[in-house]
Amino acid sequence: MAESVKVRQEILEEMLEHARREPCIECCGLLAGRDGVITAIFPATNSLSSATAYENAPRELFEIFRTLRKRGLTHLGHYHSHLSTENAPSPSDIEQAGYPDQAYFIVSVRPGAPNPVRAFSIRDGAVRELEIVSTMP
Ligand SMILES: [Zn+2]
Repeated sequence: MAESVKVRQEILEEMLEHARREPCIECCGLLAGRDGVITAIFPATNSLSSATAYENAPRELFEIFRTLRKRGLTHLGHYHSHLSTENAPSPSDIEQAGYPDQAYFIVSVRPGAPNPVRAFSIRDGAVRELEIVSTMP
């Protein structure tokens, strides 16, 4: 049985919107929520400003984690976009994935991409696609 990740529908839309707002570089950010459901999105600056790689700006991460604590939210996932390659984890995405129990969302900005938002678990170099279960508030 496929593992799944629960996420509010509006968060999926916001990830796509963020990716479209930054069509020339990979966008990135964190996802959080409660009781295993992703209900909040925290867009971050890609400090690499790159079309093929990303790093959440460390200074912003500090602020984001502070906000999570203040709002009682749990860090549940990450997202970034791919501009021209398939929205599946790249070798560097797999190498850099440091949270084996979290969901890594990858958004495609290619027109006509069959699945513009996909989610993966990345555990010790092993990638598994997660079924995205969208929920309404
Ligand atoms: Zn990537």
